[in-house]
Amino acid sequence: MINIDWKGWKRALFDFFLPGECPICAKAAYLDDVSFSCLSCLDSVAWIQQSRCKLCGVGMDGMDYAGLTCKNCREFPPLFGAGRAMFYLNKAGRQLVHQLKYDRNKRILEDVPFFLERAPQFLEFLTGAVLIPVPLHPKKLYKRGYNQSLWIAEAFAREAGVSTVAYDCLKRVRNTPTQTKLDRKERQQNVKNAFALKDGTCLDGFDRVVLVDDVYTTGATLDACAKALIDRGVGLVEVATLGHG
Ligand SMILES: [Zn+2]
Ligand SMILES: [Zn+2]
Repeated sequence: MINIDWKGWKRALFDFFLPGECPICAKAAYLDDVSFSCLSCLDSVAWIQQSRCKLCGVGMDGMDYAGLTCKNCREFPPLFGAGRAMFYLNKAGRQLVHQLKYDRNKRILEDVPFFLERAPQFLEFLTGAVLIPVPLHPKKLYKRGYNQSLWIAEAFAREAGVSTVAYDCLKRVRNTPTQTKLDRKERQQNVKNAFALKDGTCLDGFDRVVLVDDVYTTGATLDACAKALIDRGVGLVEVATLGHG
């Protein structure tokens, strides 16, 4: 059966006739001619700007912490070595991720330079790393038609200049059910051994890998990906996401 992407067509038509609709306020077409979203809407995103957990990247302001590791990472230490997220999933942040993930709105990523201005040290974190997007299972990829994490990794690589994206390195070997309603333990079980390296993948030059995903929730998916890479000898695996929460 041919899988017609009606949503993608509808969006392409809308973009043609009604260009520049802000993904956050859904009005004010081209209010700011330099950005896709209104800049004032981007200001309403809860950017992570203060001190952060060095492992998962969550903001540490006012939290109970020892050193710079959050409570979750102390109780359930991840396999990856460090992490960064750009923003919390408040209403505006959630809207950005939702449109990218479920509405094929890739234009959101035209604003990554504005995201980077609002998320200090994020660009430095990416520089010099090999970026690997979290893969979708082929069945899910076929259904959705795109992998939003690959789009994000490409946008990050474009801004970081020297980072490379390894598209075809990790694969999802099990089509795991959606994790939205699962708790931390269930998520860990759900993604256990769900990822593997593709046959013939050469890891020469993969001294530092940054895994890229749309959101960090418990870190279970990113940790399962990190395990597949560490098991094959990658020395340093870190993670970077748009949203945290
Ligand atoms: Zn707006
Ligand atoms: Zn943490």
